[in-house]
Amino acid sequence: MKRIGIMGGSFDPIHYGHLAAASQAAFSLGLDRVVFAPTNFSLNKRPKAGARDRCAMAAMATAPDPRFSVSQVDVERGGPTFAFDTVSDLSAILGPCELFFITGMDALAGMEGWKNWEDLLSMAKFVGATRPGCSTRLPEKLEGRAIVLPVPSLAISSTEIRRRVGRGEPIDYLTAPSVCRFIRFRGLYGAEFVHRVN
Ligand code: ATP
Ligand code: MG
Repeated sequence: MKRIGIMGGSFDPIHYGHLAAASQAAFSLGLDRVVFAPTNFSLNKRPKAGARDRCAMAAMATAPDPRFSVSQVDVERGGPTFAFDTVSDLSAILGPCELFFITGMDALAGMEGWKNWEDLLSMAKFVGATRPGCSTRLPEKLEGRAIVLPVPSLAISSTEIRRRVGRGEPIDYLTAPSVCRFIRFRGLYGAEFVHRVN
């Protein structure tokens, strides 16, 4: 049976922290592929870039790696995105396989508030990727029921990338060159340096 990772997130924008975590998960857990699923929006966080731009950036950044792909299930479903729906829909699309839902430890910490989280635990193995500044301890209810996965410590966040873009600071080497160019080209996050396309 194929082993497939699902990485949900707003990817606003995707960055090397996401890609390094997915790559490590693929290696450590023997995954055949990792599907990145950008949210439409989450109830506690409205993305700054539109869903199509975020999916386009995720597609560009993941294109060079044959293990990675992008699914638009959450965007196509519309409305707020819940991990339960992401995993249900992808499970139906992918057919019989072993699913691993990969999140950073920061995201996993709030899991008890997620829709149908107990059901979700039976649908996919939960993987908490370590993240600089985040606890490496699982929430009590997840102890013994989720995998803590040490991944390379990249202190990169989409928030920091958006902040840097807004201030005109460089984001090179924090995310893929294609994503840096797309942000400038589209003027996302207040990018002004549209003329400085490499
Ligand atoms: P934002 O600052 O907007 O919240 P983010 O960098 O946290 O953005 P998300 O789209 O929220 O990115 O994250 C998607 C998933 O990737 C989450 O589960 C998050 O914990 C995980 N993740 C993000 N950055 C890293 C990183 N540097 N290392 C490990 N995991 C990460
Ligand atoms: Mg986040």
